[in-house]
Amino acid sequence: MPDVQNLEVLNPATEELVATVPAATAQDVDAAVVRAAAAQAKWAAVAPADRARLLRRFAVAVDEHIEELAQLEVREAGHVIGNARWEAGNVRDLLDFAAGGVERLSGRQIPVPGGLNVTILEPLGIVGVIAPWNFPMPIAAWGTAPALAAGNAVILKPAETTPLTALRLAELALDAGLPEGLFQVLPGAGDVAGNALVEHPGVAKIVFTGSTRVGKQIMAKCADRVKRLTLELGGKSPNIVFADADVEAAALATPMSYLDNSGQDCCARTRILVQRSVYDRFLEIVGPAVESVVVGDPADEKTQMGPLISRSQLERVRSYVPSGAGIHGTAPEGPGFWFPPTLLTDAEAASPVATEEVFGPVAVVLPFEDEADAICLANATEYGLSGSIWTRDVSRALRVSQAVQAGNLSVNSHSSVRYWTPFGGYKQSGLGRELGPDALAAFTETKNVFISTEA
Ligand code: NAD
Repeated sequence: MPDVQNLEVLNPATEELVATVPAATAQDVDAAVVRAAAAQAKWAAVAPADRARLLRRFAVAVDEHIEELAQLEVREAGHVIGNARWEAGNVRDLLDFAAGGVERLSGRQIPVPGGLNVTILEPLGIVGVIAPWNFPMPIAAWGTAPALAAGNAVILKPAETTPLTALRLAELALDAGLPEGLFQVLPGAGDVAGNALVEHPGVAKIVFTGSTRVGKQIMAKCADRVKRLTLELGGKSPNIVFADADVEAAALATPMSYLDNSGQDCCARTRILVQRSVYDRFLEIVGPAVESVVVGDPADEKTQMGPLISRSQLERVRSYVPSGAGIHGTAPEGPGFWFPPTLLTDAEAASPVATEEVFGPVAVVLPFEDEADAICLANATEYGLSGSIWTRDVSRALRVSQAVQAGNLSVNSHSSVRYWTPFGGYKQSGLGRELGPDALAAFTETKNVFISTEA
């Protein structure tokens, strides 16, 4: 008998057991790869319009179950219900968008002497998607939807704490008519099922989202086989507020730029850099705004922030915050993994809380003198995922956007993720890009063929 362990899924708001799910073993991964290989060979031969039609049916099935998926996300991940509905809708949109790309995934004809030269985009084969717990549904779909659309099979390993929505999505795919074995979900431990996917010679590409530490280990293992790899890792993103900005708007937008999803967001703007001449005014507005964020039952429509995902995440977040420091909101007491919204005003720029990814509702505010100082502070991190720039000066907005080393920036807003624009990190925040117009191409090999006209 294989060594089957169970994953216990807890409701982070109550600590009650939601479900027990068997954890996949390395042997389960072997068997899944055999099934996926058979399914992929047939899938790649399906006419593009039919492949697109099946993916659209999958999108419709998700759309018809948005509320069910959202409620499941509230229970297993503690996401507030409004966000959870958006996340399920995002899966639908990603499937629709990828379906629209199937018939547009075309190669090129390049002029050469003596013949015809064409490029053909071929599917890679089997793609392993390793997803984190912070956005279980969207991040699973970021890899899965374009990989399927480009003619691949997908084996998805969700995070240990959040396997339930992924398992439900796999059922909906089958109901929608996707072939058996094409999209499989294997919940399991990272160092068992996740590692087996990374090491399996039958898996052509890994899409990993999670910590930079594990991402580096996976990258090293993929190097052994020159396995294709996309990495979406951590972030410590700046929110830069210049004195010429609408300071009130910038301050009022700040709380949810790092408290959304309880700060468990790789794009969270956790380093708030404010020009010294407006620093005090900014704090006067942002302080009460942080204190008034509604923290509590994630199923309540009025709640803005829920619990952290797990006890270990709660301990990790606590370890970064000196007791009583900074500005605090409130959080429920009793069962559940609760931590209040926190803004630290006295942190040193080089301290761990100001440089490491906390992944909780904690940000630091640091003053800067001028534009050069702001850019220097913004780039003083090993990460480079996202960031925001608040200014009314268009030239400055463009200059600073060019100077900040990050993959996703927004000016006078905090938006960063849309399924139809590219997303990914500079430096140690990642490798490759997901989403956007080129999403499907990342799941293909380019083959170049020359056909002589002189034979
Ligand atoms: P993690 O990197 O340990 O886990 C992410 C995924 O990788 C999970 O599915 C996990 O099972 C899997 N995994 C773990 N070890 C593996 C291995 N050796 N081989 C293959 N797969 C493996 O992240 P975590 O422990 O869930 O969170 C820890 C920290 O990571 C967080 O505090 C945060 O800083 C960061 N994080 C970042 C993101 C992001 O979106 N950038 C997401 C989640 C976590």
